[in-house]
Parts: sequence; structure tokens; C-alpha cells
Amino acid sequence: MRNVIILGSGCAGNTAAIYTARAGLKPLLLMGHEPGGQLSLTTDVENFPGFPEGINGPDLVENMKKQAEKFGAECEWGTVSEADLSSKHFRVKVEGEWIHTRTLIIATGASARWLGLPNEHKLIGHGVSSCATCDGAFYKERKIMVIGGGDSAMEEANFLTRFGSEVTLVHRRDQFRASKIMLDRARNNPKIKFMTNTTVEDVYDVSKNLVTGVKLRNVKTGEVWDQEVDGFFLAIGHIPNTKPFVGQIDLDEDGYILSKGGARTNIPGVFHAGDVQDRTYRQAITAAGAGCMAAIEAERYLEAEGH
Ligand code: NAP
Repeated sequence: MRNVIILGSGCAGNTAAIYTARAGLKPLLLMGHEPGGQLSLTTDVENFPGFPEGINGPDLVENMKKQAEKFGAECEWGTVSEADLSSKHFRVKVEGEWIHTRTLIIATGASARWLGLPNEHKLIGHGVSSCATCDGAFYKERKIMVIGGGDSAMEEANFLTRFGSEVTLVHRRDQFRASKIMLDRARNNPKIKFMTNTTVEDVYDVSKNLVTGVKLRNVKTGEVWDQEVDGFFLAIGHIPNTKPFVGQIDLDEDGYILSKGGARTNIPGVFHAGDVQDRTYRQAITAAGAGCMAAIEAERYLEAEGH
């Protein structure tokens, strides 16, 4: 029987591990199929406090892991396929084996949705990004493209006009999911050019390890053409990693955990941390803060239960 199991090895999970390990709770942190979380998909991180020169994303998250291990956290590979939260002692099934715990911190994140282009994944962190706040500043006076037709795409396109020489917003339809206010703001921004009824076929150039352009298709006319671009930002939604908890934890209509205040879920002893609950901020620093909150809540819960 574990005191604490933490699911997820991004900023939220690692911070929860640092705090619970330092409190002597010997947490087990399980690293799933996206180890390091969203930070492992980026290069330089310039907005994490304490690093005036910036820090490489994967290094930052690896440092957090080392810090947690220094205090006694056990970090192991393992993906949870099932969870049973119906009794006071929770169970999670990891690689076919049930593990028991008194508290559970769910820090499984939300995975960015990708287009699935042939070269997209090879250029993540080299011009392909799913986070404008994280990577926008690298594209000063460069050509930027944003994909999507929802609020995120409008918000990111507007934000990116601070940096780019031009921002092209590409959407597969001519109707937008975005709220009117966000759409109007983007439409009224003279630096944003709208390109509707257009899909992306691929992104170049893997041989240069850098985004240099994209292949586009007009879905109405069938026309296909190449366009030069330096920064390629996906804003086509995120998928919260909550599948094993469906039907057990209160989730919203998109599958994000519904918070019951602080880091609490509807089940006492089960806590949330990071993007698995947060669809608004999604930053490394907010995830780290949420991990700290979840750890403190878990510690207090165990103390109140006499452990
Ligand atoms: P979203 O509303 O689900 O929009 C996703 C967009 O991506 C849609 O326009 C969709 O196109 C497009 N898309 C999805 N898959 C695609 C694919 N394979 N190829 C091309 N395009 C694809 O997601 P979101 O914009 O991230 O917003 C999520 C939630 O957060 C929403 O409730 C939103 O209101 C909220 N949000 C609010 C704010 C704010 O108020 N400040 C900011 C950001 C997000 P189709 O329309 O054709 O399906």
C-alpha cells in the first residue's frame, strides 16, 4: 500500500513528487507515454521564473525529476489502463498489475491535438509548436501560421502578432467555432490574414531541421500550393488524459477533471494537478504550482487519516 501515487511526469507530477517526497511520503511517480509532458516537446523555455537566460524544456523537467528522486521519490515507467476509486484504498492498473494507494494525484495532462502530417512530429520544437505563449517570442519579424478555427486559434493568432511580421490563420472551413468577440478581435487585427477552406498537407523542411514552409490545399477548388513560413502553430484543441477515470471522477463535457476547490476532485484522497484540470492557463509554472497544491492536500489528507 502506497501513501501517494502520482500519475504523470510533467511539471505538475514532478513538483507533486518533490513536495510529497520531501514530506517523507515516498511517492511513486508513474511516467506514461509522453514522459516529461508538454515541456519535453519544446526547446527553450524563457518564462519559467529563476532562469534569466532561459532553459531547455526537457532539461527543466529532467532537473525536476532529479530533485524529486533526491528526496526519495520513485519514478517508474508505466501507463495506467484502469483505475478503481470506489473504496477508500484506491487501485490503479499499471501494465497489467494492480497497485494500491491511499492517495492519488492525477497529473496526466492534456495532449495537444496534432494534424498528423507526415513531417509534423519531426519538426516539433523546430518551428512546429502547440503553444504560442511558450514559443511565440522566437518568431520576431518572422512569418507565422496558426491552424484552427476556435477560440484558441484566435487568441494565439492575436498574441503572435506581437512578434511576427505577418500571421496567417488557416482554417479548414469558412465557419468558425470561435466566439464572436474573439473572432472579431482577430478579424480586426490588421496583421492577421485569414485563409479559410484550407487544409495543410505537410510541413517542410526536415532536412534543414527547421520549418521553412507548408503545403496547402484549398478544399473547395482543389488547388495545392506551397507557402513560406517560419513558425507553424497548431491550435486545434487538446485532449485531456482522463480515460481511465471516466465514470469515476467528475469530468466536464470535454473530459477535463472538474475541480472541487484547491486540488480536490469529487473523491476525497484523489487530487488533480496541471493541465488535466486546467484548460485556461496551461503553463509550466501554473502546472508546477498545481503540483505543489496537490502534494500539500495529499499530505494533509493522510495526516487527517492518521498516516
Ligand atoms: P475547439 O473550440 O475545439 O476548436 C478547435 C478548432 O480546431 C476547430 O475550429 C476545429 O475545426 C479545428 N480542428 C480540429 N481538428 C482539426 C484538424 N484535424 N484539422 C484542422 N482543423 C482542426 O478548441 P480550442 O479553440 O482549443 O478551445 C477549446 C475550449 O477552450 C473552447 O471551449 C474555447 O471556448 C475555450 N477557450 C477559451 C478561450 C478564451 O475565452 N480566452 C481561449 C482559448 C480556448 P472545426 O471547427 O472545423 O471542427
